[in-house]
Parts: sequence; C-alpha cells; structure tokens
Amino acid sequence: MLQKATRRQSKDHNKGLVLRTVYQAGWISRADVARATTLARPTVSTAVAELIDQGLVTESGLGPSVGGKPPILLRVEDDSRYMIGVDLAESEFRGALVNLRGAIRRRLSLPIHELDGEAALSVVHRLISELVQASDRPIVGIGIGTPGLMDSRRGVVRNAVNLNWRDLPLGDMLETRHRLPVYIANDSQVASLAELTFGNGQNIANLIMVKVGRGIGAGIVLDRRPFYGDDSGAGEIGHIVVESGGRLCRCGNRGCLETLASTRSLVQRAQSMWEDTRPSALRNLVASPDDITTGVLVQAVEAGDEAVRAMVAEAGGYLGQVITPLVAGLNIHHIVIAGSMARFGKALIQPIQEHVNSHSLRTLAENTHVEASQLGQDIVILGAAALLLSQELQLS
Ligand SMILES: [Zn+2]
Repeated sequence: MLQKATRRQSKDHNKGLVLRTVYQAGWISRADVARATTLARPTVSTAVAELIDQGLVTESGLGPSVGGKPPILLRVEDDSRYMIGVDLAESEFRGALVNLRGAIRRRLSLPIHELDGEAALSVVHRLISELVQASDRPIVGIGIGTPGLMDSRRGVVRNAVNLNWRDLPLGDMLETRHRLPVYIANDSQVASLAELTFGNGQNIANLIMVKVGRGIGAGIVLDRRPFYGDDSGAGEIGHIVVESGGRLCRCGNRGCLETLASTRSLVQRAQSMWEDTRPSALRNLVASPDDITTGVLVQAVEAGDEAVRAMVAEAGGYLGQVITPLVAGLNIHHIVIAGSMARFGKALIQPIQEHVNSHSLRTLAENTHVEASQLGQDIVILGAAALLLSQELQLS
C-alpha cells in the first residue's frame, strides 16, 4: 500500500516537474526536458503523454535538427485551463477568467454599493457563479485578493473593516458552494505575486510592493516567497501613524499614513481646497468639487496643475517616510508602487525615491529603485491567478 502511494506521488511529482519545465521554456523537445530535469527519457515520455491526454501540453512544430530527425517541440496549451481571479476592491468586486499566462479572457465586475456582511458575501458568490458559467474550459480554482487582515493558511478573513467581516471562513464557504480549490490572501500580498509572475519581477528574488489606493498596504517578497509574518499581517503599513494627532482614521487612530497618502485623502484635500483655488487645470476639468475623482486629479497633473502636483508630491513624501525604514530593515532593491495612486507616475514616484535617497545610508539607497507597476488595475486579479498557478499547478 505504502509503496503504491509513494510510486503515485513520485509520478505526480515528475509530471509536475515536466509541466513546469515546458511552461518555463516556452518551446522545448522531450530530450531537452530530460536534460533539464535529469529525469530518464522514458519517464519524461510517460509524463508528456499524460499531459497531452489532459490537454495541458501539445506537440507543436519541429526544432532545429542536430544531425538526424528534427525533434518535435512541446508547449503548454495556455488556454487549456482557466483560473478565476477575484479582487474584492472597495467600490466593486471584480473578477476574471485568466489563462495560464495571465491573459484575461473574460471580466466581470459587480457594484457593492455600501453592502457588507452577508450581503457582500452573496455578491462574491454571484460573481464566481457567473464566471464559472461563462467558462468553456476546465477551471483550476478560485484565487481571491481581499483588503484587510487574513489568515491565508486557513483561508479566514480575520478583519476586513469596510466589509464588516470578522473571522469569516471565506475559503471553506467558497469551496463548499463552488466545489473548486480556493486560495485567499491580502490584496497587497497578492499584488506582489502578480509582479513576480506576470510583471517586471520575473527575474528578481526580493520585492516590496506597495499598493496605494483607497487603502494602503505592502506585500513583501523574500527569496521569491511572499512573507506573511507571524499574524499574516506583514505589510500592514497603512495604519502607521506619521502625523501624531492628525486626522481621524477609519481604524480609530489619528494621523495614519492612509489619512495622508490614499486616494481618498487626496480627493478630500482637493475638495477642501476648492474655494481657494485660482483658475487652474483642475478648475477647467470639473465644475464642482463633488466631481473630483482620482482620475480627474491625474488629468490635472498631466495638464500642469501645480497645486495638485504639490499635493501628490506631499503624499509621496509621507509614503517615503514609511518605505525608507523598510528599505533599511530589509535591504531590498526593488520597490514597486501599484494601485490607483500609481497612475500619477513620476509625480508620485520621484518624491518617494528622493525621500528614500535622502533618509538612508547612501550605499543602500544607491541600489534601491522605486518604480510604478505596469500591471494597472488588473494587478490583484492577476495576483490571485498567480496564487493558483503556484499553489495548484506548481507552475511558478
Ligand atoms: Zn488607521
């Protein structure tokens, strides 16, 4: 019995290894798979036959001949499976069917208005059901990025303030209802996985991803593994107090980073400054302060509005205050900013970089680069898919 189980395990292990090798190579012959994995040729052939049977791998074209018959090349069929990636963002729940290379094949978003508790949970179920129905391929599983404190190992949302979820066993609930494997992590942590798997981070070991939107959080990657911390709360930087006695934050404290550098705080500040604003790019864009959104502020900066640019730079300075100790404590070269604040590009990035440069040891700061993520607003969906790719298929 035991022997049988062991044989089965090593067979699965070999198959996984072969699949990962083909996936990473793009195109590769059976002989090169054997060379790369050091598995015996017949073992590779058996694994490949099974993967072809499952539709995961296809034979596709011929490689260059090294004397003799040109070898048949294998590749992963990128659309043979879909993954469901879900972003429980603050204003709407967004989900998508994602192929094995991170291409989005179908997307769906459902407004949540001010729903929370059970009502918000039923929106998650609806979103997933509709995506399952829309898929004409087998589904690998469901990956979820959610704001708030998570126990990722158990799939429990410990505390999501805006959704009023406390100790909610979301993973178990979704698995029971949809009969698919479910993986959940905090949205910033998930965003860091997207950058490693589908973004510019494919060849780096360590990364700090700072997601700045209505909330602020960081995802820390060490040796290509997400670092969750003792309470799964690593990277909860949004509630570090940077202005003692400052504005009241939704966490109950005053002067948190979120009250100074989130999109919500920026929009509120622009609205409160409205009366004093002289003719400006911002005034040309909207008729009333109620119409100010992050998108409008991005346009204002692009149109050369100095007052708005200064506000964005100030937010960058506050972010720098919190990012600098991370750089000193961890000595990580790559700092990536994502979330809707990243849309300000250089206007936000440069002040952060300057703060890091001027407040840390020069030798460390020299090698530290702050940049905006190129993955845009799909970053959490893609990260949730990356979670499945690594946990369910061992592909990354
Ligand atoms: Zn706070």
